[in-house]
Amino acid sequence: MERLIFDYSEPGRRAADLPRCEEGMSADPLLAPFIDERLTPLPEVSEQEVIRHYIALSGLNYHVDKGIYPLGSCTMKYNPKLNETAARMEGFSHVHPYSADEDVQGLLGLLYDLEKELKVITGMDSFTFQPAAGAQGELAGIKIFKKYFDCKNEKRTKIIVPDSAHGTNPATSAMAGFDVITIPSNKQGGVDLAALEEAMNEDVAGLMLTNPNTLGLFDKNILKIASIVHKKGGLLYYDGANLNACMGISRPGDMGFDIVHLNLHKTFSTPHGGGGPGSGPIGVKKHLRDYLPVPLVEKKGRRFFLDYDLAHSIGKLHGFYGNFGVVVKAYVYVKKLGTKGLRHASRMACLNANYLQKRLRKKYRLAYDRICKHEFVLSGDKFKKYGVRTLDIAKRMLDYGVHAPTVYFPLIVDEALMIEPTETESKQTLDRFVEIMCTIADEARKNPELLHEAPLNTPVSRLDEAGAVKEPDLAYQGDL
Ligand SMILES: *Cc1c(COP(=O)(O)O)cnc(C)c1O
Repeated sequence: MERLIFDYSEPGRRAADLPRCEEGMSADPLLAPFIDERLTPLPEVSEQEVIRHYIALSGLNYHVDKGIYPLGSCTMKYNPKLNETAARMEGFSHVHPYSADEDVQGLLGLLYDLEKELKVITGMDSFTFQPAAGAQGELAGIKIFKKYFDCKNEKRTKIIVPDSAHGTNPATSAMAGFDVITIPSNKQGGVDLAALEEAMNEDVAGLMLTNPNTLGLFDKNILKIASIVHKKGGLLYYDGANLNACMGISRPGDMGFDIVHLNLHKTFSTPHGGGGPGSGPIGVKKHLRDYLPVPLVEKKGRRFFLDYDLAHSIGKLHGFYGNFGVVVKAYVYVKKLGTKGLRHASRMACLNANYLQKRLRKKYRLAYDRICKHEFVLSGDKFKKYGVRTLDIAKRMLDYGVHAPTVYFPLIVDEALMIEPTETESKQTLDRFVEIMCTIADEARKNPELLHEAPLNTPVSRLDEAGAVKEPDLAYQGDL
């Protein structure tokens, strides 16, 4: 592949063209003994040049401060800047990790208080903030499955996962040493009860489920599902990444789940593009509290302390308090919105998704014809006869200045486009999004070639994305 050199502000500009400091001014004499001549020299530029460089780069990038980011399942909502200010406060950001409990009472109090809020929101009994992401929360949860049955001397080797599940669910089960049984979805996009009943027996540790699922559909059979699993002694794990649809409306604890993970960086607002930072706290019902990773935050009288004394703890998952900055942002978000505000956010998320679904189904096939929750899935399959694939549609969207939805997921929908507008977009933005997607649908019919070439207006065109992830080339590519 041809090497790419980004032109930041003027075409063809490279670091070598940037003004250099004069000879002798470059290195701080105090640092000189530490500078190894064999290392790649860094460009020497003024503060102003550095700032211009990064501002230009951020302009090339697409982010939620620039426009709608309708990635299904990932909840890329607007993240209030107030959260950032709070997370940066010195009392939080400058705490020494080895501080004694007595010296970090405010910090422990915040963890304790947010746990209290999350217990009310989810209907669970105890939380840990240790996991650094949803996937790590899943691993913690499934390790608890394992330990729980080990302690009961039961040999259970399998976990059931529906075919609509997020990829991390089967991956987590396999990583924790379980065999994965995939069960099909029914015509309404929910769990096929007969298939679940057939798969569920005393070899099965439990079920991993998200509700609403990745099709954005709420499974009304959830109590029956829970009872099928519990009757055979299994546990239910709730993938809470879709909680944006149900804050203040429905609770996994009431649906019969034993363990849940939340994605604070999705539902409770932290910018998380590019893989982090995240926080994936898990909550459990009473009978599983002593299996949680240590430490838990507890309160005795008016004093908060870290409790390491749990009979069956799966151990330690993360240093110190977890990704504490993300927890602070979630805390500010929950406190600022309050109970009513959280419910309003979820209602708006569902309303926005249904508005888009209703308008877009005229041009795209709607995969499941039902009222959706916070997201929905379209199929681009009717454009295949023009030689146009969903990937082409997604790439063309970039030309119109919007981020594409999630594509080719969930796997059970052919040519899937998974759309989650979130609660934070205005009707004008949603209408513009509809207009763009409808224009592209027309282009797909009339001018398929155009879509094959897209994107034409972006700083770089189609990249080998899988290759870039597997073999990232991070070397500086300007001339020095
Ligand atoms: C994002 C997501 C996950 C994984 O969470 P990470 O924080 O990205 O590890 C799991 N399940 C669903 C449904 C998700 O959307």
